[in-house]
Amino acid sequence: MDATDIVVLGGGPGGYAVALRAATRGQSVTLVESALVGGTCLHWGCISSKALLHVGELLDQVRESGRFGLDLTVNGIDIDGVNAFRDKVQSQLHTGLDALLKARGVDVVPGRGTVADDGRTVLVDSGRRATGRALVVATGSQVRSLPGVDVDGRVVITSDEATRLPRIPRRALVIGAGAVGLEFASLYRSLGAEEVTVVEALDRIAPLEDPDLSRALARAFRKRGITTLAPALVESVKVDGETATVTVATGGDERRFEVDTVLVAVGRAPRTDGIGLDALGVLEQTGHVRVDEWCRTAADGVYAVGDLLAPPALALAHAGFAEGFLVADVIAEVGRGVPVDYEQVPRVTYTAPEVASVGLTEPQAVQAGHEVAVSSYSFRGNAKGIIHGSDGFVKTVVAREGEDRAGGESGQVLGVHVIGPHATDLIAEAQLITSWGALPAEVAQLVHPHPTLAEAVGEAHLAAAGTPFHTH
Ligand SMILES: Cc1cc2nc3c(=O)[nH]c(=O)nc-3n(C[C@H](O)[C@H](O)[C@H](O)COP(=O)(O)OP(=O)(O)OC[C@H]3O[C@@H](n4cnc5c(N)ncnc54)[C@H](O)[C@@H]3O)c2cc1C
Repeated sequence: MDATDIVVLGGGPGGYAVALRAATRGQSVTLVESALVGGTCLHWGCISSKALLHVGELLDQVRESGRFGLDLTVNGIDIDGVNAFRDKVQSQLHTGLDALLKARGVDVVPGRGTVADDGRTVLVDSGRRATGRALVVATGSQVRSLPGVDVDGRVVITSDEATRLPRIPRRALVIGAGAVGLEFASLYRSLGAEEVTVVEALDRIAPLEDPDLSRALARAFRKRGITTLAPALVESVKVDGETATVTVATGGDERRFEVDTVLVAVGRAPRTDGIGLDALGVLEQTGHVRVDEWCRTAADGVYAVGDLLAPPALALAHAGFAEGFLVADVIAEVGRGVPVDYEQVPRVTYTAPEVASVGLTEPQAVQAGHEVAVSSYSFRGNAKGIIHGSDGFVKTVVAREGEDRAGGESGQVLGVHVIGPHATDLIAEAQLITSWGALPAEVAQLVHPHPTLAEAVGEAHLAAAGTPFHTH
């Protein structure tokens, strides 16, 4: 039997963040991983999809080359070459992560693990046992489908197959308008699909975002030739050979779509079945692991991080990193572990155009009892935005209730919402603004480099502070 300070079950972003941080805190760590360290994010999620989306972006730029005075054409797409590019990116990151774990002295044990009844030992299918002072469960999540929709992995697929890009769809229907569904809809159109339809059961696409972003993205998709239906319900999916007929109920009508690809992107389920957690009594009915703000379960010495946590935890890689750091610090009893504030975790969607946000949406702020003032700044007034050809914007949601700072009374910035080029990078500054409770006038004092897209964040706050600059 191997005894270490910490045994981590699952080597995705949550699990490997625990391992790497704990090692820097002087803890000995055993990490049990049944597939590849890096998990869903590196091999079937974030990185695979972003590599493909980068290819899509290049294609869109070539198609728009006339705008720049260039005469470029897309002469073809070598799908093997595209997949090789994605593989190369993944493998570079995977090799790096492997080396990092080794360098920090983390003992990576290959194999499928289950938790023994003592809540301290992981039994690996190779026969090895690893026991720790603490156990961290980080087995992540897996794709799920809709009742009555059979995923055949060929015509009806999930993101697991989509990230492998077996072929380029000609006509695609995407079920679900969360980040994953929207990203693949965007990708398929960039890759040249003639028809792309997104079906969302809730009343708008990107339903977790501020309604202004949902509307703007639906508009931008429409301009790109992507149809969005919301609210709309998929009633049936029938596959015949290489074609699926999808029946969709929307606006009192029934519509039929003949497509070659149906992507089911209706969220993910926690991967907690059959790994010994029932006996510990730490599972919710949904299969999520129940934890407190320190990611501790009700079982002594057992912690959980990542996608298997129930809301308000967010199923995002960077939320998993943050939970991993927290747990490692709590177990090692060093550092200043701070519970993750999910409201302040940036949400990112890598569509064209990108969407990103942090803090409260306007309706959430109102619901929380704030009187709010909103302002927005269009990328059409921003030099780099014009170069990029964007008509997106930065929207701020500011509390009216005042604080006596920055030479006057004003409310804090509660939320920042961006749609446009590099929104997913721009949101990093916004995160500092909302999480430090900045006032618009304080942000307005910061000097942003010119010309940059980041100026749009500064301009939105100049406007919110009542001192608009390049704004009508
Ligand atoms: C298509 C797609 C795109 C995404 N894009 C983004 C993005 O752009 N940004 C973002 O922040 N998030 C993104 N996500 C979400 C992100 O991938 C997850 O939030 C993240 O991977 C969760 O990390 P995790 O460690 O909890 O779980 P996982 O990454 O799922 O890792 C869990 C690991 O545990 C292992 N495991 C499971 N059971 C066992 C067992 N019994 N024994 C041993 N090992 C086991 C698995 O093999 C896996 O390696 C995306 C997801 C998808 C599907």
